[in-house]
Amino acid sequence: MYVPMNLLQFLDRAVTVYGEKCAVIDYEEGRTFTYKELATRVNQLSHGLRSLGVQKGDKVAYLAPNTVEMLEGFYGIFQLGATMVPLNIRLKPEDYVFILNHSESKVLFVDQDLLTLIEPIKHQLETVETIIVHYGDDTSNEISYDKWLNSFPENQFERAPVDEFDVCSLLYTSGTTGNPKGVMLTHRSNYLHALSAMHHLRVHDDDIYLHVLPMFHVNGWGSPFYYTANGATHICLRRATPAKIFDAIHKHKATAVHMAPTVLNSLLQLHDEAKPETGENVRVMIAGSAPPPAFIRRVEDELGWTFIQVYGMTETSPLTLTSASRSTEEHLTEEQKVRLKAKAGYPMIGCDVRVVDENGNEVPHDGHSLGEIVVYGHGVMKGYWKNKEETEEAIQNGWLHTGDMGTIDEFGHIDITDRKKDIIISGGENISSIEIEGVLYEHPSILEAAVIAVPHEKWGETPHAYIVLREGHTLTEEEVIAFSRSKLAHFKAVTSITFIDELPKTASGKIQKVQLRNEYWEANPTTTGRF
Ligand code: ATP
Ligand code: MG
Repeated sequence: MYVPMNLLQFLDRAVTVYGEKCAVIDYEEGRTFTYKELATRVNQLSHGLRSLGVQKGDKVAYLAPNTVEMLEGFYGIFQLGATMVPLNIRLKPEDYVFILNHSESKVLFVDQDLLTLIEPIKHQLETVETIIVHYGDDTSNEISYDKWLNSFPENQFERAPVDEFDVCSLLYTSGTTGNPKGVMLTHRSNYLHALSAMHHLRVHDDDIYLHVLPMFHVNGWGSPFYYTANGATHICLRRATPAKIFDAIHKHKATAVHMAPTVLNSLLQLHDEAKPETGENVRVMIAGSAPPPAFIRRVEDELGWTFIQVYGMTETSPLTLTSASRSTEEHLTEEQKVRLKAKAGYPMIGCDVRVVDENGNEVPHDGHSLGEIVVYGHGVMKGYWKNKEETEEAIQNGWLHTGDMGTIDEFGHIDITDRKKDIIISGGENISSIEIEGVLYEHPSILEAAVIAVPHEKWGETPHAYIVLREGHTLTEEEVIAFSRSKLAHFKAVTSITFIDELPKTASGKIQKVQLRNEYWEANPTTTGRF
């Protein structure tokens, strides 16, 4: 018998097995809901969506930080067989116009704090028929969420039949390298990804999971599924400042948290200064970019957290590689273990991940031959929404081309070297901007660093670093160059520096090098090069 995979099975299981258990804690407001209560709200939401005319296949967009409302939104939408379109909360108004129109979203839920982002562009929205405001008060012209939700019955909603290949989410990529693309993920891809992730990330029913990575972003995306399926408790944190993260972990005894390395970096800084409580038995999952071993050591020694690196992208549901330790690594020294954790790791169950050359042949498993990372697996997207050309470029013979470059060693560990577009080609050598950044981060006065390729008369390209200094510290360009020359082969050392107050980042904390390149171009208008 064919039983289609359906993400609603995860919530159903939590209600049956853990009905009276705390499903979600709202950190700021102090509200809590059991799994039974959450399911009731989900039913009310589905009834509400039906009253707005939402039908199977329709798109429903959310513009919200990590909230109870966002969490229930996924399941409420799925009961109608409709598609969730989560919006990044740090986009520009024109991006919202583009995504909402491009996705053909019919209903838009907006957190009250973010309404100012939508007000000025409302008249440009072509398909949105209704806007509902979370936490909206009665004086608002829009419909207030709680009042609206509570006007609908609590009984079980009659669900739309779902095929496992139906698109359940239309997720726009981070836009790190250009315009965001609408990635179509299915019930099946998310379901199988969740089973694999809950195994590799050791998810249990006694987990208390703190949402730091945004649910609207793919790296935070899987968590509403795999923590729910296990009956774990979610903690929603609207504004994840370092102090609040530590406090939420301590107060609610959180055991698992996913974040970007840049956020973890600011936690380490706060820990240096204020020594807050760090919690016990905390696993920290890091996604989005590769941190150096020295950084991992600090997380494990100073915070006492277990560090797990994961690698993935929106197009793969997202996770495909993990550095979670394996029994075969038990004989290694602590130093060797840390070095392995600094690599993206080995393929997760259900993913075939390879490193290939330009002809599609696997590079030697020697730890230094560079190739592109390609993925074949159940998590790979159905395609980019309304973008056949880019879909065909990304998925070739079933293999997803990630645009990330890396190496693979004799034990099958994959190391992400850089994005194809960020590699610096100097005198014919490929230089990883990530490797240089890793060295710069070792300097006690450097808070953040990003390295880009800039044109060089003799070598073609050369590394240029953007540096953010720690508060109260000073450093000259010459000192930074000398430091990088003392730690790296000379052809890899940075040759020029721009000091800035803050690096441009995506909502998930990824550094937007495309913006730095644009800035460099503006400051150096005569510059020419491959970008
Ligand atoms: P866009 O595709 O719009 O330019 P994006 O690639 O940043 O944006 P995401 O899908 O959010 O959008 O991010 C996936 C990318 O993040 C990967 O392709 C890779 O470059 C990077 N990444 C994720 N995890 C890791 C990791 N552990 N180490 C290094 N890089 C990582
Ligand atoms: Mg990408």
